[in-house]
Amino acid sequence: MPRLSEVITALENLWPAERAESWDAVGTVVGDPGQEVSRVLFAVDPVQEIVDEAVKLGADLLVTHHPLYLRGTTTVAASTFKGRVVHTLIKNDIALHVAHTNADTADPGVSDALAGALDLRVVGPLVPDPTDPEGRRGLGRVCETDQPLTVRELADRAAARLPATAQGIRVAGDPGAPVRRVAVSGGSGDSLFDHVRAAGVDAFLTADLRHHPASEARAQHPLALLDAAHWATEWPWCELAAAQLDEISDRHGWGLRVHVSRTVTDPWTAHAASARPSSSTTAPPGNAPSAPSEPDSPGAPN
Ligand SMILES: [Zn+2]
Repeated sequence: MPRLSEVITALENLWPAERAESWDAVGTVVGDPGQEVSRVLFAVDPVQEIVDEAVKLGADLLVTHHPLYLRGTTTVAASTFKGRVVHTLIKNDIALHVAHTNADTADPGVSDALAGALDLRVVGPLVPDPTDPEGRRGLGRVCETDQPLTVRELADRAAARLPATAQGIRVAGDPGAPVRRVAVSGGSGDSLFDHVRAAGVDAFLTADLRHHPASEARAQHPLALLDAAHWATEWPWCELAAAQLDEISDRHGWGLRVHVSRTVTDPWTAHAASARPSSSTTAPPGNAPSAPSEPDSPGAPN
């Protein structure tokens, strides 16, 4: 059985901490390097629900995409929600390790997993990492579709393949427009519009698109926008990362049991469709607005 320090070294090889953005807080948050590890859980968010799941599972290590603490803190008192997370982890001998922007820009990284879930062929990074001589690392991915698709078909595919959330997929643009080239970026993507325009894509799939950047991007360029829940765009990375650690475990004969949390930690839990939607990419004309989706049962992507 490997020590935590050995597993962390393997994770650091996949996602070196020095490749994280300067504002980010990645690496090991909780954990004794000498403790043994037999069971690992991957999740997007280090929230209490996920930590409770790790306890129930008997995990020794929780690996999350989002940091627990991004800025400095002066307390881990259990009366604060993050402090309670720390207490639960330590009391149950569970380590916490974070791979955030260093996993975003990795090869393969968060947006490769998102593209893979949608059967999109990755052509290259949307924002290449200038320190990578091979030009494979970077933020977001430019992709090509496996077959000719319309915006509506791409949105339906994203809705079907990404885990279910209350939001589903919001779409801007002509649902019948053809899509061959797509930019994808897991997590918040509206700071990337200049790169998306430069990439000459037909559509951009990401999360957290705000009114003004989305509106301006559409006014400047005939681009379809597909906006999914932030959590849903990053969740496929958990499966990719778990498979990577599984492979390393096999190679070293560690016998790790590696799990992926299916708990939906998207903060939005319900969706009410407008009484008279002006247009829809999913419902045929004349259909009643769809019922709110059930956020507690993520669809298995593939
Ligand atoms: Zn994120």
